[in-house]
Amino acid sequence: MPLTGIEIFKLLPKTNCGECGVPTCLAFAMSLAAGKAELAACPYVSAEAKVKLEEASAPPIRPVTIGVGNRALKVGGETVMFRHEKRFENPPGFALLISDTMTESEVDSRLDRFKKLQYERVGLTLRPELVALKCGSQDTGKFAALVTRVKQGSEANIILMSQNPKILSAGLAVCAERKPLLYAATRDNLEQVAELAKANSCPVVAKAEGLDELASLTSKLTQSGIKDIVVDSGARTLHQAFEDQIITRRAALLKKFRPLGYPTIILANEMTGDPMKEALVAATFVAKYGGIIVLSDFQGESLFPLLVLRMNIFTDPQRPLATTEGIYEIGGPGEGSPVLVTSNFSLTYFIVSGEVENSRVPSYLLVKDTEGLSVMTAWAAGKFGADTIAPFIKKSSIADKIQHRKLIIPGYIAAESGGLEEELPGWEILVGPREGAHIPAYLKSWKQ
Ligand code: SF4
Repeated sequence: MPLTGIEIFKLLPKTNCGECGVPTCLAFAMSLAAGKAELAACPYVSAEAKVKLEEASAPPIRPVTIGVGNRALKVGGETVMFRHEKRFENPPGFALLISDTMTESEVDSRLDRFKKLQYERVGLTLRPELVALKCGSQDTGKFAALVTRVKQGSEANIILMSQNPKILSAGLAVCAERKPLLYAATRDNLEQVAELAKANSCPVVAKAEGLDELASLTSKLTQSGIKDIVVDSGARTLHQAFEDQIITRRAALLKKFRPLGYPTIILANEMTGDPMKEALVAATFVAKYGGIIVLSDFQGESLFPLLVLRMNIFTDPQRPLATTEGIYEIGGPGEGSPVLVTSNFSLTYFIVSGEVENSRVPSYLLVKDTEGLSVMTAWAAGKFGADTIAPFIKKSSIADKIQHRKLIIPGYIAAESGGLEEELPGWEILVGPREGAHIPAYLKSWKQ
């Protein structure tokens, strides 16, 4: 059971030094209990208290990292049943299945698709993260050759798929430093696979036939010193897998049942032979608690909607998507180019920057931090008026880049033009269009 704020407070140093960002240890304890602070923020917790607090403040679903470096995938770490309660933390990873029974050209074309199928959307790069390397041949040499080919040809995080410890060992001999996920430890091979996972510090999947057996397997793995576990209940129908996901999440979050407190893996590729149905299965588990989703192949028409769905579900509902505040140069502007200002709501930024680009008039676009609110909302909230835009313009150093002193503001905040001219002496404030679609025509008539 998690500790209360008072129980946490008893374990803190009680010096009220304030280095954690709040004035007292009690306030810090309350923030920790509410999940609003990290224990690492207090540098003075004793080692003994740290162990107790880390155990008590650990998320009910353990975060597990697969792979290394900045492309590593972190799954799990979830704290809520429903997105609207707070937010979902770590999006599920999509894995492309590759088998050692495939021809070399098929393997290469899959790796090629893995690399090419990535998309820019609202300033983010959407792409898959994993390849699931399956040993269908039962031949250690063939499997090792496949792992070598994939390792040399891709930066993907790797899942090694075999229930034969010797085959997993052959794969690990090639790619252990990439910290692959071992699929899978079962009741028949648990000790050998646990040894491999421990020796190579790799995460491991516990695969069972049902949730009772799954809880027993994860308990045995943790007793043998393994913490980074991903779980597979063995369900291979949509109905059963869906039910298992809900039960697993509820048990971990609401009952604090640690043996099921791990991210899950969904083998959508084994639930249907129809690519369209497979995409629908995958979409179901993007929304309902999948940690890793294995697909039989990647095709743009199914992967792209899945990536967009994942992005939408895993954005924080309390924080709109925002673009970084700053000066954006579009089309190579110079000292006579127009200067526009807008809010940092991502959708606003992408519409406005897209229309400025369409105009083919090189321009500066100043994006002001409005906490991700759109122009009208930010204006109504007092975050995009003359008193906040003027200081932003001054500190942005845009004046050093241009000869003129003309600023184009969105048509929706025309009422701010007088206030801005007062706050920005020497500047002429021009009221631009209300709609982004009218920006190209407006800019084409620009005169310095
Ligand atoms: Fe207390 Fe630690 Fe915060 Fe200092 S840094 S106030 S000791 S909790």
